Amino acid sequence: MNYRPLFTATLFVSLSPLYAEDPASVSDAGRWSKERVQSERPAVVTPPGHTTAAKPGAAPSDALVFFDGTNLSKWKGKGKDGSDAPQWLVKDGHFEVKRGTGTVQTRDQVEGDCQWHIEWCTPAEVKGNSQGRGNSGVFIGGYPEVQVLDSFQNDTYPDGQASSLYKKSVALVNASRGPGQWQTYDIICIREKKGADGKVIQPGSITVLHNGIVTQFAVQEGGKQASGGLQLQDHGNPVRYRNIWARKLVVPTVAAPGK
Ligand code: MG
Repeated sequence: MNYRPLFTATLFVSLSPLYAEDPASVSDAGRWSKERVQSERPAVVTPPGHTTAAKPGAAPSDALVFFDGTNLSKWKGKGKDGSDAPQWLVKDGHFEVKRGTGTVQTRDQVEGDCQWHIEWCTPAEVKGNSQGRGNSGVFIGGYPEVQVLDSFQNDTYPDGQASSLYKKSVALVNASRGPGQWQTYDIICIREKKGADGKVIQPGSITVLHNGIVTQFAVQEGGKQASGGLQLQDHGNPVRYRNIWARKLVVPTVAAPGK
């Protein structure tokens, strides 16, 4: 016996009210008035494109783009002849640490809570070991260094490996790709919040995803500044960066434990 027609009919009958529903009822009257749906509907953001080995995806539609693959006009560093134009090398859609020319930092700061996206790549040719292998670093204003290192089959002290907060917090896991492969950091920065009495009602924290894997979760280190830019470290190794953007976040304040 074939039960399929009966099953299909039953399914149609049971699901059809959903499809027949008046679109206006999405307001869920009682909890959400139509006016609240209008006024509190989350903003539409076009998500980033998929990053591939060959090419980064486009930044989301509401992002502040700091490097789009073409130039370092939004960065400053130690330039030649007293200039602050960075000497790091821009090539093929990325830029690369130029040994001995110092850190580079964004000219602009991002106010308040924010999300940063950074793509980086350590040299395909492996030289050195431990901290001497593909070392650089990401500093978001007021937070510890998020270590950049070739940590693929490369032991070092755990709070100094890739995606550790340098000498502050060990990465939850080692999510490293191999040398010469593009990797991603997505970093969520929550700034310290104070109440009217000046007491901290929410500590600053930092969350890091390395290649999409959570490696630091709401670690209460840093975040006392109200704003900050991004700084990248010259540790002498030719580490590459591309597709760097930030988004401002508006997130509810969560009271600190015990408050
Ligand atoms: Mg470093």
